[in-house]
Amino acid sequence: MKTDCDDDRIYYEEQLLDGCNNYWIAQAFLPHIRNVLSKLPLKVLKILIERNFGFFAPDPKVEGFVLPPSGYTRDVIVYLSPNLLERAQDHIEGTIAHELAHVYQGIDDAGPARIRNHRTAGKSMKRASKKSAYAEGLRQEKAADKLAERWGFRVPRSLTGMPETAA
Ligand SMILES: [Zn+2]
Repeated sequence: MKTDCDDDRIYYEEQLLDGCNNYWIAQAFLPHIRNVLSKLPLKVLKILIERNFGFFAPDPKVEGFVLPPSGYTRDVIVYLSPNLLERAQDHIEGTIAHELAHVYQGIDDAGPARIRNHRTAGKSMKRASKKSAYAEGLRQEKAADKLAERWGFRVPRSLTGMPETAA
């Protein structure tokens, strides 16, 4: 039986996948992102839309691309590396869920570690604040892992502790 909730879900998912709302979602990423969105609670989808984010998930087959400077007015970009597509499905979807957990939990300018790889963030910061920024970064990574796991995903180990490939 079809319910109003189903209609809402379809509407929210379509809005999150809409080409006008995203920088780029390569065809190969679409089924994975769809799978992830289908597992998220309705209220989470609603908040994700409010966060005004856009995916930048380039196609591995495209070697160069120009994005128009206008027409993209998202507050947050979720980048998915084309290399991610070489991983197993649960790794890909766990990574997408982890990044969406960051978006859901909110990111801001106060914590550069929230949006950058820890190593990059650490290097660009003064020594005094390096340790606390690192600790804050770790806290946020663990919180994102925890939430993604609560949503039913297996978060790849590379995303926890000392991230090498993603943050
Ligand atoms: Zn992260």
